[in-house]
Amino acid sequence: MTHEIVVIPGDGIGQEVTPAAVDVLEALDLEFEFVEADAGDAVAEETGEPLPQETYDLAAGADATLFGAVGETAADVILPLREAVESFVNIRPAKAYPGVDALRPETDLVFLRENTEGVYSGHEDRLSQDVSTLTRVVTESASRDLAEFACDYVAGDGHDGFTIAHKANVMRETDGLFRDTVAEVAEENGVETDEVLMDAFATHVCLDPTQFDVVVCPNLAGDVLSDLAAGLVGGLGLLPSANVGPERALFEPVHGSAPDIAGEGVANPAATIISAAMMLEHLGYDDEADAVHEAVETTLEEGPHTPDLGGDASTADVTEVVIDRL
Ligand code: ATP
Ligand code: MG
Repeated sequence: MTHEIVVIPGDGIGQEVTPAAVDVLEALDLEFEFVEADAGDAVAEETGEPLPQETYDLAAGADATLFGAVGETAADVILPLREAVESFVNIRPAKAYPGVDALRPETDLVFLRENTEGVYSGHEDRLSQDVSTLTRVVTESASRDLAEFACDYVAGDGHDGFTIAHKANVMRETDGLFRDTVAEVAEENGVETDEVLMDAFATHVCLDPTQFDVVVCPNLAGDVLSDLAAGLVGGLGLLPSANVGPERALFEPVHGSAPDIAGEGVANPAATIISAAMMLEHLGYDDEADAVHEAVETTLEEGPHTPDLGGDASTADVTEVVIDRL
C-alpha cells in the first residue's frame, strides 16, 4: 500500500534538515509518495498567509506529515497543523546518546504530553487594564484518550508502566480530574503507574533521570518538563517528536528554524531523521525504523559530527554516512 507523506520543510534550517530526512526515507525504497507543501515566514511574506489552505488540507488528508521548522510564524502554523491531524498526544523522547556530551548521559525518557487543552486551550481574556485571566480546561475524554494511548504505548514498547506528573494538590479540579482519569484507565488496562508532583519531578529528573521512564503529563507541564529533559541530554539538534491523532500524525524535530546557522549547510539533521524513524514506526515499518535509529546512533557515536556536536561535518556529510550505514 502506498502511503502519502506530506513534507513541509518551512523556514531556516527546516529547508536543510527536512530534505536530509527525506533522502534517508527514500534510501529505504518503500512505497511512499512525497508531496511537498509550503508554510512559514517565507510564504507569509509572499502571500500574507503563513499556512496556505492547501497545506492544511494536505496534512489533514495524508497518512503522515514530516515537518521541519518555521520561524516567527510558528504559532500560526504548527498549532493549526496539529489540529489538522487531530493530534491528542505529543510524544517527546529525550534520550542521551553515547558519543554526545550530555549533562546526564544516563537519561532515557519519553514524555507523552496532552496536546489539546490545559492552559493552552486558548481561553484567555483581558478583563481590564489591570487584570487578565486564563481558563484551564481539562476534560475526562481528552485525559482518557491520552491514557489509553499511554497504555498501548508502554505495552507495545516493553515498558513496565508510566509515571503521571501533575499538580493535583493545588489544581484539584483540573489536575485532579486528569490524574484520576489517567490512573483509572491504567488500572482498567492492568498497567502500573506511579505519580509525581510536576515541580518535584523537575528536581528529581535532574538529580537522577533513571528514576523515570515514560512520563504522562498535562499540556504545559509536558512542554516545560520535556524541554528541561532536552537540557539533560545536551542537544536541541537531537530531539524528535510526534503529534499523533486517531488516523494521522505529524512528525517534527523539537528545535526551531535556527536562523543563526541557516543557509550554512551545517545543521544537525539527527532530530529530523529520528522524527522520520518515529514516522516509520507509526506507519508499521518497525524493522526500517529500527535500522534508521541504529544508523543515527552509530553516527552519533562514531561521527562524523556537525559543529553543534563539536565536529566540522556538513548536514550532507552526516546524511550520506547515515544512508551508507543503513
Ligand atoms: P526559532 O524562532 O525558529 O525557534 P531560535 O532562534 O529559537 O529559532 P532554535 O532553532 O530554537 O533557534 O535553536 C536554538 C539554538 O540551537 C540555536 O543556536 C541553533 O543554532 C541551535 N540549533 C537548533 N537546532 C539545531 C540543529 N538541528 N543543528 C545545530 N544547531 C541547532
Ligand atoms: Mg526556538
